[in-house]
Amino acid sequence: MSNALNLQGLFMSEQQVDLLIIGAGPAGASAACLLQQAGFKTLIVEKEQFPRFVIGESLLPHCMDLLDEAGLLEVVQQQNYIIKHGAEFFRGGRQFAFDFSQQFTEGWRYTYQVPRDHFDQTLAQATEAKGIPILWRHAVTQVDFAQDGSPKTTIEDEAGNRSIIHARFILDGSGYGRVLPRLLNLDAPSHLPARTALFTHVTGDIRPQGEREGNIWICMLDDAENGWMWIIPFANGKTSVGVVAKAEFLAQFPKDPDERLKALIGSTPAPKKRLAEAEFSFAARQIEGYSISAKQLAGPGYALMGNATEFLDPVFSSGVTLALESANRAAKMAIRQLKGESPDWNREYAEHLMLGVDTFRAFVNAWYDNRFPTLIFSEAKQQSIQNQICSVLAGYVWDKANPCVNQPERMIELLYKNCTASHPATAVSG
Ligand SMILES: Cc1cc2nc3c(=O)[nH]c(=O)nc-3n(C[C@H](O)[C@H](O)[C@H](O)COP(=O)(O)OP(=O)(O)OC[C@H]3O[C@@H](n4cnc5c(N)ncnc54)[C@H](O)[C@@H]3O)c2cc1C
Repeated sequence: MSNALNLQGLFMSEQQVDLLIIGAGPAGASAACLLQQAGFKTLIVEKEQFPRFVIGESLLPHCMDLLDEAGLLEVVQQQNYIIKHGAEFFRGGRQFAFDFSQQFTEGWRYTYQVPRDHFDQTLAQATEAKGIPILWRHAVTQVDFAQDGSPKTTIEDEAGNRSIIHARFILDGSGYGRVLPRLLNLDAPSHLPARTALFTHVTGDIRPQGEREGNIWICMLDDAENGWMWIIPFANGKTSVGVVAKAEFLAQFPKDPDERLKALIGSTPAPKKRLAEAEFSFAARQIEGYSISAKQLAGPGYALMGNATEFLDPVFSSGVTLALESANRAAKMAIRQLKGESPDWNREYAEHLMLGVDTFRAFVNAWYDNRFPTLIFSEAKQQSIQNQICSVLAGYVWDKANPCVNQPERMIELLYKNCTASHPATAVSG
């Protein structure tokens, strides 16, 4: 099963590969590398030409394990991205830092903050260097499944020229494009209320010195339910700054996106100080309605990965971790299937993935209803509990030995009750 594919020939005739991947983002690139390691002929079809902008710039330590397995860690380590040692939370004048060196789960103690245009291009170039073809500026427009589940995919270039790819299996890593969920009517609404994100990159960020320079800052606006702000520093001197909030809350700020973001920065104590001299590198961009779910994650001949599955909320920077974990698992399942096994996609893929998603979901819910902020700013928490929470924030959300993974909702409730009973003043109104 050679990976040599005649790209020229694609325009002339229908072609056959073992596996077709939609999208060259972190999910698509890492899945392709694992399939290639197993010797399968894989093709990635990518709508854009990289580098392209995408939001989602703060990795979690578990990403390092997954990049390593895909053979992509070394190239990432060579890029000199700024090191992220932890996550720091701010409420008014108060601050609490999680340090990834103090965790329940054995694993990576740091990761990186990455400008995604550069990071995704780095992964894609490394993928191509392994001999995996990426068909740039081609969009998947249609997928038809034969009786045996094998997909016949129509792709279209920018001039509207169409070609057909026959594959034995298709993995959808199309992110917000959600190609198969749209074509197969798999989209399901998120249970989270719709929120808006407003963001830019800035220069002139006055950063903390030393090891904490690369930490993410997550700053509550007036209270967590209304929204929060991220500050993610890069090695290139720029810093990503964004706000996530309900549209009703944002409506009280100026309508113009730049003015709105500036007003939000000015009204939040820690960012106000840190970003006092900041200048926007591009006009603030606004996106909304990004939280979405899927009715099923796999079916005959296909599986969804990354943001094409479910996207929760960015507060704990879980997106790329979930993209890489789902790609890792989906690629391994697809390899078994291509070798003639009949893996149970529901049990071994969807249920596995949902364990991690549901852990993050419990923590996201607890962030917005103010239990999580109450907990972390409480004097009553113990170091052992802090370490368990830290491993969730590091992306180790499949470690069932961690009580905060095994029973996240129960743990959050228990911890919240303990800390509000011993220190009632720490509770904030939700
Ligand atoms: C406001 C906000 C902040 C976020 N912050 C973070 C963060 O700090 N950390 C984090 O880990 N995550 C974050 N995320 C989530 C993160 O953006 C995504 O989870 C991540 O990019 C998913 O990777 P992916 O590989 O699934 O998809 P993507 O990276 O979106 O890649 C999908 C690719 O598919 C291509 N494509 C789409 N349609 C087609 C088509 N029809 N044919 C061919 N190709 C197609 C696209 O061009 C794209 O290149 C954030 C999200 C939001 C909304």
